[in-house]
This record gives sequence, structure tokens and C-alpha cells, in this order.
Amino acid sequence: MARYLGPVCKLCRREGQKLYLKGERCFTEKCAVVRRPYPPGQHGQGRIKMSEYALRLREKQKTRRVYGLLEQQFRSYYSQASRMRGRTGEEMLGIIERRLDNVVHRMGFASTRAQGRQLVRHNHVLINGKRVNIPSFRVSPGDKVEIREKSRKAPFIKASLDAAANRQTPTWLEVDRDKFSGLFKSMPVREELNEPLIREQYIVEYYSR
Ligand code: SF4
Repeated sequence: MARYLGPVCKLCRREGQKLYLKGERCFTEKCAVVRRPYPPGQHGQGRIKMSEYALRLREKQKTRRVYGLLEQQFRSYYSQASRMRGRTGEEMLGIIERRLDNVVHRMGFASTRAQGRQLVRHNHVLINGKRVNIPSFRVSPGDKVEIREKSRKAPFIKASLDAAANRQTPTWLEVDRDKFSGLFKSMPVREELNEPLIREQYIVEYYSR
């Protein structure tokens, strides 16, 4: 599946908030949202009045960008969720959270989801002892995710783990940093997915217009 290859700080500036797409830089004063807190482009500093439609569109775009997904794939997650029993917005976030690149990031092996995707694509990740190199692979409760033995010395993985030590691990995951492994214990909890704030109801309204 294709992915976005353009400048990512512009995406945060467009959404008017930090989407944490660049790892540690996002926590420093070099962050573009801190330095230039207005949308990119010639008219970025002009007056903005958002319509109801624009609000919903921005919410959808923001969520898509947080998880590094292109429209086609994001929309297909929405349609899968709309066929499920629970609330569509929550089901959709649950499906996306189970993506392997996201899980690798949440466990702290990668500083961003983009880096998580790269780790997976480059065969550094094992699921239940078997190599999986598909970033969209859906992790299930009970699955063990680990960095393969040969890759454990990679400095960027070590750096990510060190940085992640200061962050809280989500309750649905269990991580053993010394063993470079983690367990996907249960389905993600909606209340813990609030960073940056996602209003999934707007996304549902956008697609069901
Ligand atoms: Fe760039 Fe990260 Fe700041 Fe976003 S949060 S503007 S990706 S440094």
C-alpha cells in the first residue's frame, strides 16, 4: 500500500495541533507548530471561518494523518467498522489501533508510526516467533510481538525504547523492554486513544453525509 512521502510538519500546522509525526523533535521547541502556529501556505495567516463540513473534513484528515494512512485504506476501515455491531467510530479506531506498525510504535520499539512501518517492512519484527512484514497486519489479543534477535542492537530501536521509557504504556499492551518483546493483551480502550484528541463521531458524519 502506498504512503504519504511529503513534508509532515505541514500536516500538523494545517490541523493546528501537534500530531507527533517526527518522534523526539515533536517534544522540543523546534516543533513547527510551536515556531509557526498557523496553517502553511500564502494565506495561512488569514482569517479562517470553518463551515460544519470543513470541521468534519479536518477531523477525518487529522486522524488519517496521525496514523499515516491514505484515503482509500482509511475509508475501507470505515466501511468495515460500519458493518460491525458496536459504534462505528470506536470500532474504526479499534481496527486501526490493531495495525502492526501502530502496535510496534505504541510498544516503544519505534519513535513514530512511520518508523514502525519501516521496522515491519524491513523484517525486524516477529509475531508469535514468525516474521511478518506487512504494516497493516492486524494484531490479535494474545499475540506476542518482538524484535528479532539480529536487529536488537540497532541504535535507533534502543533510542526509541529509551525515549518510550518516559511514556506510559497503554493498558492493552505489556512490554518487556529488556527482552525487546511485548504482548497485545486485549482490544484497545477508547478512553486511552485521546492523543491528539480525536472526535470520531465527526468522521462518521463525514462519511455518512
Ligand atoms: Fe513537526 Fe512533530 Fe511538531 Fe508535528 S508535532 S510539527 S511533526 S515537530
